[in-house]
Amino acid sequence: MERPVRRGCFMAQNSYSYLTCPMCDVEVPMAGDEKVGEQVYCPYCQTPLALRKTKTDELYLEEDY
Ligand SMILES: [Zn+2]
Repeated sequence: MERPVRRGCFMAQNSYSYLTCPMCDVEVPMAGDEKVGEQVYCPYCQTPLALRKTKTDELYLEEDY
């Protein structure tokens, strides 16, 4: 399976389209209107992931079993 091309800094201009799954390292597409704390599923490994935000306003995904 071919990996999607990595985009540069997706946090630029406060928009983003992909976050990396911490389990399988695949890029999970985001609609852009997800809220922090919202649960999404990795389309590849099906792990439930919670949307989190760092102190510097960067979004990332964390396993949410
Ligand atoms: Zn995954």
